[in-house]
Amino acid sequence: MQTHTHTLRSPATGTQRTLQSLHFGSDRQRPDDSANANTQKVYIQASLHADELPGMLVAHHLRGLLTALEASGALLGEVVLVPMANPIGLDQTLMYAQLGRFEMASGENFNRHYPDFANAIADAVAPQLSQDAAHNRQVIRAAMQEWLSQQPTPNELASLRNTLMRLAADADVVLDLHCDFEAVMHLYVETPYLDQAAPLAQALGARALLWAQNDSGALCFDESLSAVWWRLRARFPNHPIDLACLSSTVELRGQADVSHAQAQADAQAIVDFLIHRGVIAGHVTLPQPVCAPTPLAGSQTLHAPHAGVISYHAQAGDTLAVGDVVADIVCPATAQVTPVVAEVDGVLYARHVLRWATTGMDIGKIAGAKAFKTGPLLSA
Ligand SMILES: [Zn+2]
Repeated sequence: MQTHTHTLRSPATGTQRTLQSLHFGSDRQRPDDSANANTQKVYIQASLHADELPGMLVAHHLRGLLTALEASGALLGEVVLVPMANPIGLDQTLMYAQLGRFEMASGENFNRHYPDFANAIADAVAPQLSQDAAHNRQVIRAAMQEWLSQQPTPNELASLRNTLMRLAADADVVLDLHCDFEAVMHLYVETPYLDQAAPLAQALGARALLWAQNDSGALCFDESLSAVWWRLRARFPNHPIDLACLSSTVELRGQADVSHAQAQADAQAIVDFLIHRGVIAGHVTLPQPVCAPTPLAGSQTLHAPHAGVISYHAQAGDTLAVGDVVADIVCPATAQVTPVVAEVDGVLYARHVLRWATTGMDIGKIAGAKAFKTGPLLSA
């Protein structure tokens, strides 16, 4: 294992943060034909939302597993692990509460505003594309890195985003480890990659596999890296372009789910997936899937109709039918008690960690099978 330390742009006199990346396996000597499984690169980062801690604990256990696999010669490809992806957010504590989702300086979500690579590099790659998919993959990855190297990083957040992207941009597999408030294991993936994501969902025992294809241009980290391939494929239909980066946001249950046993099992599940992908030597039989993929546009977000105490009837992981009561919102001042009910059939895959609802607050999400939403599908 090699440890690299990346220095972020200083936000203020006397303050300079660093980011660590751990590098396992082969160096970046990627042969032209990366269809060879042995040459795959995997990028895994934990806690881009800095107050979502299960990823850090999984990364801790992954570090041990990968160190042993590397020593035994079983690691056939390269794994880059960023065990704490957001030193800015980790340092944002306000009256003992850690605020890791948004940067306090700008108000921006740490997991938004990543590059629309297809638009950024299309002109540069157009004259270089050939009828050889492996060649095209190399050309596109080189153009992504070149573009990133030329971007200004005018502030600390920009330098963090750019550093993470440069570590991940040429990976075949990207796992962005997050969690929800109180939740069961679930994954987000772009629609064209559902086939590649299915074994990951199986290995992790995901209770929901949510798919979407974002055309908004305001990209999450995972979408930025997977979207470039299907967008360029659509733009250059006469050239073979692979779906060369399976990138997924992995929601490792809820914020408080940080037991060693669970994190160890999750780390082993990721290793099993990498064995299945051919990045690690060995044989593995993955568990049967415990959910069918469902559209993100079919996910019902439950809202509190008025302020009050949230008294949940349903647990995260419960399978609900239309009309089932998820929670009561109780206003002690008016004695108003309003049930919030499921409007789709499916798994309640996440619910809030707070028990006081402000009017309109999101209090839970149900993975319905039928798409019914249009427009932006993720909150800010
Ligand atoms: Zn998150």
